[in-house]
Amino acid sequence: MTVARPDEVRRYNRAALLRLLHKGGPTTRAALSTELGLNRSTIKMLVDGLAGDGVVEERVPRLAQGAGRPSLLVLPQAQAVVVLAVDVQVEHAGIALVGLGGEILGRNSWNLRGRQREPEEVVCHVAESAALLAQDLGLRPVAAGVSVPGIVRRSDGMVHGAANLGWLDVPLGERMGTALGVPVVVGNDAELGALAEFVRGVGRGASDAVFVSADVGVGGGIIAQGALLRGSAGYLGEIGHMTVRPGGRRCHCGNVGCWETEVGEAALRRALGLGEGRPRGAIVAELHELQRDPDPVARLGDYVDWLILGLVNVVNVFGPELVVLGDLFTALPTPVVDRARAEVRARSMVSRAQGGVRIEKSTLGPDLKLLGAAEAAFDSVLTRV
Ligand SMILES: [Zn+2]
Repeated sequence: MTVARPDEVRRYNRAALLRLLHKGGPTTRAALSTELGLNRSTIKMLVDGLAGDGVVEERVPRLAQGAGRPSLLVLPQAQAVVVLAVDVQVEHAGIALVGLGGEILGRNSWNLRGRQREPEEVVCHVAESAALLAQDLGLRPVAAGVSVPGIVRRSDGMVHGAANLGWLDVPLGERMGTALGVPVVVGNDAELGALAEFVRGVGRGASDAVFVSADVGVGGGIIAQGALLRGSAGYLGEIGHMTVRPGGRRCHCGNVGCWETEVGEAALRRALGLGEGRPRGAIVAELHELQRDPDPVARLGDYVDWLILGLVNVVNVFGPELVVLGDLFTALPTPVVDRARAEVRARSMVSRAQGGVRIEKSTLGPDLKLLGAAEAAFDSVLTRV
């Protein structure tokens, strides 16, 4: 049996406390003591250490009630630990500096067209833009998280394939690390979306949740027992490429009848009767218009059936308490989501057995992937602060 040394125990407790403040925001010393199962003198010692390093501040809570001395409120200091978040999408890229506690302290974004989409151009632009932003704000990121719409090996950030970007076997983690000069974590966009929802969004407090998003492609991220599920080699969550329709449309992945071909952006365009070249904005506008239609479920026809079929499969396989719908799915009219909720409840054995499953739209908006990328970076950093 190995006995942990006191400094190791202290480091472990310090990281746990910091993680709690990062995710939960300002917390009283008393609540920290309860949450972490540590006595008050240990909490005091840890908080004093962090305050001495400028990572937290303490204040007397304003609404202290009752007699006696109120427990001091411990506040994480956003600028004390800063990470760079990078969100590479098919048509644009964005960066943000995110502080301890999840606050976006500054950002920049630009369009990606033609050559700008090449990996070396993206890396170069990210590094230049990040350096300028950090200089403007007088901040220094200690790590970076990068979201990419592709299959990513988490161990080293190798992007095995990002079909919609035209990338194949790009060692993005290595290249970004060299260009930025800080440790870099690269993740699949849907996986990082799941992480963001779990830490900051509608999935807060859920132990088992699935995030499903429709962008140009359809992807997913799975939270199981409070942690991101990973495949044997780090690849997982290609929910969009479940075969749902033998003899259906050919998918860019080489397979036929993938869920993505029935519920992704192109399928939505077809269901709405929009021409192939119509931009994403037209789809979203049309879906908002559909809110006023007396029967949007009927208007979308088969699309709704395919959506439900995929969700029933996902719920049966993963048994989540919550399914979060992201990106284009968030623009679906309320009656469509209501129908999906009712049908999944009726048709999924797992949902029936566990007494239902919540199906909610993502609430984090366009910052979702930036926030997820930041959380991936913070995960690697908070043990070292
Ligand atoms: Zn496919």
